Amino acid sequence: MKYTILLKQHIGAPCAACVKAGDKVERGMLIAEPTGLGAAIHSPFDGKVAEITETAIIIDAENAEPKEDKFIPLTGSDDMELLKAAGLVGMGGAGFPTAVKVNVDLKGGYILVNAAECEPLLEHNIGQLETDAPKIIEGVKILKKLCNAKEGVFAIKAKHKKAVDILAKLCEKEDGIRIHLLPDIYPMGEERAVVREVLGKLLSPTDLPSVADSVVINVETVQRVAEAVLNKRPVITKNVSVAGKLKGGTHTRVFYDVPIGTTVGELIERAGGIDGEYGEIVMGGPFTGKPTTLDAPITKTTGGIIVTKPFEDLKGAKMGLLLCACGGNEERMRDIAKKMNATVECVQKCKQAQDIKGTLKCENPGNCPGQAQKCMNIKKAGCTEILIGNCSDCTNTVMGSAPKLGLNVHHQTDTIFDTVGKERMRYLTTSKTVPQLGEEPEVTVTSSESGCEYTVTQDVEDGLLHIDIKEGKNIEIELPLFL
Ligand code: SF4
Repeated sequence: MKYTILLKQHIGAPCAACVKAGDKVERGMLIAEPTGLGAAIHSPFDGKVAEITETAIIIDAENAEPKEDKFIPLTGSDDMELLKAAGLVGMGGAGFPTAVKVNVDLKGGYILVNAAECEPLLEHNIGQLETDAPKIIEGVKILKKLCNAKEGVFAIKAKHKKAVDILAKLCEKEDGIRIHLLPDIYPMGEERAVVREVLGKLLSPTDLPSVADSVVINVETVQRVAEAVLNKRPVITKNVSVAGKLKGGTHTRVFYDVPIGTTVGELIERAGGIDGEYGEIVMGGPFTGKPTTLDAPITKTTGGIIVTKPFEDLKGAKMGLLLCACGGNEERMRDIAKKMNATVECVQKCKQAQDIKGTLKCENPGNCPGQAQKCMNIKKAGCTEILIGNCSDCTNTVMGSAPKLGLNVHHQTDTIFDTVGKERMRYLTTSKTVPQLGEEPEVTVTSSESGCEYTVTQDVEDGLLHIDIKEGKNIEIELPLFL
């Protein structure tokens, strides 16, 4: 069976093959080297090089699913050399070469482990923490030493109670490693959102986390750091969540250590196979994923594969797009509009979305600056439909104005959420703050104006607000809890 190993699986320049057609390769063998910013690529299979193209090395594998995790071990005289040799990149999707990212003196700062797993339906990061947290703690310890950090902090949503409990027990035994709980809103996993939530510092869209003496690094990347240093294992496999219109149900299946180069189609077959007619296959999560094909290969940055139901047919209706820096870009939103058979008449972007070298970056991720004017612009352009890719807070704001203007609201995640039976993203139903471990939930009592008595309690686990009215009825309660 032939497998395609892409020469560019990271931010930077494509690697150059250091093998040629006909060469014998073994699992873990170096097959491509960086030509600038990049990360080394190793063979995920034993076999023979079938072909080298401009973009990939094609390997004819002998044993695509080995029973043992055997590989050619890395060589390197210290931790940094091993990280470079391993070909590590940001496995949360960003793909920035890890050895470059962690080559920094944080002067007693922070390793922030991004465990937000912010994209709905993806479950492999939390699954890793539930099943293999000690290895990830080891990775944090290596990174703390390497970057001269005084603290490692797991930024994780409070709703993942099992993983939080496991981590809390392990952190008790470690010096300088703790947990910071995040609310269940999008986009808590954005790098600067993690810094803001954990350290209370709002970075500008052009700032790197190092401005706040920190490195933000995804859970799986930390796992692979531990494997590179402790087991001398190169990056040859990837953890992937698969969900959607599949035989056997739409729930998420998690596959650990999928060989890089495995096709999307093979992985879907392992998950049960596509169940009948479908709309599209998305590689990545519902917000930042892109359409893909069955023959596309899994790379070091592939986190999710989602098969959707067919799209709703809007029969040529006029549509306006409202872009978010943390959602689909204009190309992706136009693609969704086309698949919904709508005509795009107007494109607006959230006023906090700044264009930085052709990519939108949010000034303050997840905190809405207001969207009424954007909705009015779309209405004035003659649209009846609005397709948004906004964060939880801004979607809530759009819902405050667009329906009143007579606009039908569609969110870019709708088709995926409908496929898996998840409630469509519309109003904000959870708080933007959560109590930290050991903190008491917020409680507010008594309305002074009406004399009514009520208690508002924020659930520590899911961040939901519960209102218990003891006296009075039909009272209006204004709560500042979303601030
Ligand atoms: S504030 Fe605007 S740009 Fe930022 S996350 Fe929300 S919708 Fe996106």
